[in-house]
Amino acid sequence: SQNVETLVQQIKWDASGLVPAVVQDSGSKEVLMLAYMNKESLAKSLESGTTWFWSRSRNELWNKGATSGHTQRIVSMSYDCDGDTLLVRVEQQGPACHTGSYSCFYNAMESEAVQAATAAAQADRFAVLNQLESVIASRQAERPEGAYTTYLFEHGVDKILKKVGEEASEVIIAAKNADLDELRYETSDLIFHLMVLLRERGLPLDDVLAELGRRHGKQKSEYAQSQAK
Ligand code: AMP
Ligand code: ZN
Ligand code: ZN
Ligand code: ZN
Repeated sequence: SQNVETLVQQIKWDASGLVPAVVQDSGSKEVLMLAYMNKESLAKSLESGTTWFWSRSRNELWNKGATSGHTQRIVSMSYDCDGDTLLVRVEQQGPACHTGSYSCFYNAMESEAVQAATAAAQADRFAVLNQLESVIASRQAERPEGAYTTYLFEHGVDKILKKVGEEASEVIIAAKNADLDELRYETSDLIFHLMVLLRERGLPLDDVLAELGRRHGKQKSEYAQSQAK
């Protein structure tokens, strides 16, 4: 663990004694907000494990979530190559934005060139899983009324587990039909509920993909052995 004074010296503070801090959801990897830290707020963040900023409009130290309850537990902190920007990875309670939005960055800026790139990114056939992970994270934060995902988070982990069990059984039954429509439908149900469960338990889909990747990297014989156990 590093000394706070030493860390403070690594940072290139601007003329007002501030450094921008990008705050990222450690689970979904969504960028949540940008705020400024001064030396004192950096020290307080490192000490408390929750985010402290300097409000340039109110001219005061600010513990994120102190009034709203939408706190941020720090999972990791780093500074960039030239020390002029911080990255704070957090577990966010509720919405990060004071407007009630999950992330502050909900204003899309589009152009022809940008849209072409967006289309290319979406050509990735698993892009929908990324999008779904972000939607689930935003439902958990914002709890929009009437949304089924809100209902699941409101009822808690036992309700979600019950749904995972039910959907798994439905997949088993559907798999016995010659017609694939029901299997497609029930598999989608199962994957969605599994992703809600991962979010509720705080396990990023990335971690599951990394685990699958590690297994893929193993020798076939090793894999067969671990399966036989
Ligand atoms: P909070 O820290 O969530 O209790 O909010 C207290 C005040 O901090 C709000 O009224 C806003 O002025 C400000 N604030 C909170 N979240 C943000 C944000 N993501 N970006 C900018 N200002 C914020
Ligand atoms: Zn930089
Ligand atoms: Zn905001
Ligand atoms: Zn189902």
